[in-house]
Amino acid sequence: MIERVPVERRICLDDYAGFVPLAVAVGELRSRARELVPRIAGRRVWMVSSTAAGGGVAEMLPQLISILRELGVTVEWVVIRPREPEFFVLTKRLHNLIHGVGDPRLGASDHTLYRAVSRRCAEELAQLIDRDDLLVVHDPQPLGVGAELKRAVGVRAIWRSHIGLEEELPATRAVWEFLRPFTEAYDHAVFSAREYVPDWLLPRTTIIAPGIDPLGHKNRELKPHKLVGILCDSRLSQAHAPVLTPPFGEPARRLRPDGRFTEAAETDEIGLLYRPILTQISRWDRLKGFLPLLSGFVELKRRARTGERPARDRRRLEIARLVLAGPDPGGVADDPEARAVLEELGAAWRALEPPIRDDIALVTLPMGSRKENALMVNALQRSSVVVIQNSLREGFGLTATEAMWKGVAVLASCATGLRLQVRDQLDGRLVRDPLDAAELARTLDEMLSAPHRRAAWGRSGQRRVLDEFLVFSQAMKWLRVFAETASRR
Ligand code: UDP
Repeated sequence: MIERVPVERRICLDDYAGFVPLAVAVGELRSRARELVPRIAGRRVWMVSSTAAGGGVAEMLPQLISILRELGVTVEWVVIRPREPEFFVLTKRLHNLIHGVGDPRLGASDHTLYRAVSRRCAEELAQLIDRDDLLVVHDPQPLGVGAELKRAVGVRAIWRSHIGLEEELPATRAVWEFLRPFTEAYDHAVFSAREYVPDWLLPRTTIIAPGIDPLGHKNRELKPHKLVGILCDSRLSQAHAPVLTPPFGEPARRLRPDGRFTEAAETDEIGLLYRPILTQISRWDRLKGFLPLLSGFVELKRRARTGERPARDRRRLEIARLVLAGPDPGGVADDPEARAVLEELGAAWRALEPPIRDDIALVTLPMGSRKENALMVNALQRSSVVVIQNSLREGFGLTATEAMWKGVAVLASCATGLRLQVRDQLDGRLVRDPLDAAELARTLDEMLSAPHRRAAWGRSGQRRVLDEFLVFSQAMKWLRVFAETASRR
């Protein structure tokens, strides 16, 4: 029920420091580490999460771990793999309730299941962990595991919640009541935003904004021939000339009107290299707002046919396409709803009239190779004139960070995590209501018709990520949390 996740040595700090814009951040991290790492000497740090692929946590951990190791910290990563499939159904409910969504009734059987699985995973993990180690538990799925382990082994434990909601609703009250006894076992908590922290955890909470790896496969720069090669290797585009590398192990697939998923560029091109492309890439989760975005895009296309506008702007709207992409639902273990959400979205897409349906591509990205998946996301984001994140709720929203780093203008909803990153009219645009198709269409229309402003938003967003949301500042804050937790009696 516990699986070690290997993390191979990745890009090292010298590689980063070789990039002029990153050198200052790396220097600062190194000097802080010289002071903090000795304070946790002899202790191992155990990261515990519920999946090694798909979603924000799995995204961030490998590079964070690799950097911490280079700085002299011993870090291990394990994921829980409960045998009971109902466990992830329950934890998905807990996840949604933290976001304020779902039926707030959590019954005795839910408690029993959560406790039993947590206890069994904890027993297994106890074989690996020492009393002096530091435990970092990510999100609600393994929260109970950490609490049980803390009680059994007495290890120092930190809970890292990547999600939260700034308002209090019946759903959030219910889920926090459920989770509170487990959170209380922890020495410290880490949240992405002050707004998310339940009152009782405030005195022992640190805020750490997530950060991205600027040189990883997801974010590194791609020269045109590389980008084209990736699109061709993943069959997102057809190869019209020889490309450098052989096709990827598994192709990206695209939904067809007959309901099948086939290679994305099998018979026709999405037009990633030719058309203005609008993209949202997320897990298939209702809270990501795919369905309302689909309606917003349909509305945008209708607008193209009405009103006066310069010929260039009209043309841009006519040929623009929307790509809705997410992981192949077979590849993400802790997200049992993904398939149903994708089916719902697929049904809505298939019900559209053909000309507009052809302008929207529903794409699944294979998860078999993390590297290939990351390269596909990178290439798709770089092929876009606007990257959208229309979330109804969003803990942080790394997809926005990733697009900003690439200098792509972002359209995001006002969900807290996105609002923390994207400043309206500075780094992109924010829509007030992700369910309002007219607002989405109007804002997209404005963005598409303003290429110079889009470029300025892209530049400003890149600067913002450099200053605030790279892995270095994240690693620095973690070192401080480790040192302080270790020195606490
Ligand atoms: N992602 C990915 N492949 C996919 C879809 C998403 O690698 O097919 C990544 C995406 O690039 C981002 C992460 O998953 O890095 C999602 O993180 P985010 O904070 O946006 O949302 P979460 O999934 O944590 O709710």
